[in-house]
Amino acid sequence: MMMKNKEFETKAIRHQVARSDQREHSVPIFATSSYMFDSAEHARALFAKELDGNVYSRYSNPNNDEFVQKLCLLEGAESGISTASGMAAMFVSIASFLNQGDHIVACRSVFGSTHQILTQLLPRWGITHSYVDVHDLEGWEKAITPNTKMFFFETPSNPALDLIDIEKVVAIAKAHNILVNVDNCFATPYLQNPIKLGVDIVTHSATKFIDGQGRTLGGAILGSEKVIEEVMFMGRHTGPAMSPFNGWILSKSLETLAVRMDRHCENATELANFLSDHAQVRLVKYPHLRSHPQYELAMKQMSKGGGIVTFEVKGGLEQGRKFLDALEMMSLSANLGDTRSIATHPASTTHSKLSEEERQTVGITPGLVRISTGLENIKDIISDIDQALNRSKS
Ligand SMILES: *Cc1c(COP(=O)(O)O)cnc(C)c1O
Repeated sequence: MMMKNKEFETKAIRHQVARSDQREHSVPIFATSSYMFDSAEHARALFAKELDGNVYSRYSNPNNDEFVQKLCLLEGAESGISTASGMAAMFVSIASFLNQGDHIVACRSVFGSTHQILTQLLPRWGITHSYVDVHDLEGWEKAITPNTKMFFFETPSNPALDLIDIEKVVAIAKAHNILVNVDNCFATPYLQNPIKLGVDIVTHSATKFIDGQGRTLGGAILGSEKVIEEVMFMGRHTGPAMSPFNGWILSKSLETLAVRMDRHCENATELANFLSDHAQVRLVKYPHLRSHPQYELAMKQMSKGGGIVTFEVKGGLEQGRKFLDALEMMSLSANLGDTRSIATHPASTTHSKLSEEERQTVGITPGLVRISTGLENIKDIISDIDQALNRSKS
């Protein structure tokens, strides 16, 4: 079936790569490390790449291929590879293109482990980086050196939910022949398609909203045929391959991504509205909330506001911690993108290693709380947050 012209949900549900001969309706798990050849000639042709086909699951596997081909259809990418985790995708997508002496420019608010790659690991191989603050569009141009090979960013940012104007940063990169790599984990392909705005590489942690049920790690790298050819070389020979079982889970997860994201966004919008009027709350950030400083850009760049809401509890650090301890239903976890609502206090957990000043520059105030709005009934989500806010009042 030709999937290109079908709608998002149809692509996510109906695209298939392989079946067994048992007439099963649900796609089976191809739990195999290797594949058989019909003959010596068939083996030779596969190895010579004269024929397409599976050889070894570090290279390709029907479950992983189905997952990544669906993602390509959803993001508008020509090609892609799946990886064992989101961080494998971040690392391989960078390492495939940067050589000794090269330079990468990234937004300051990158995910914690991406920050470690940029600041601790890449320098070992002589690769340097510069950070640009999330609101400093001109900073991208200013940070360029003769060796700059890649721009890397996330939008919306974690946890402050600030946005980067994808089209504008792409325009700067194109003028200097620089590759643009966007971690699209927070928005998912359902809300934002960076490749359609000119981005070269889209990376995902599938562990978050794509799995959506907190079951498995996974990642993906998507782009043009040319870009992914480079990535495949690195991926095949260094081995960050996804397990076929996880590929099966994540391909099934994509089937429900649209309905789940619709509800995540609906719940998050209601929560953001509720918090905006709460006496114990100072500042609420949600991309599609009219009070968001980049509301216009959010409306243009994201089809809905996403599942994450951040807000500041009045009273700062102590009050923020009290609020978390007063929650009765919500999970306290550093994860996000689950059916279960999760509350995180970045200043004392995910971003505690940063100095106070560094936290300020990425928009993390002492009382900031991040909510990953789950799929429980919104009345129960709101009532848990309301009682915790009222109980933690100083
Ligand atoms: C979680 C996350 C990652 C890392 O993904 P893993 O699957 O945990 O390796 C990268 N980027 C963002 C924005 C994330 O939220």
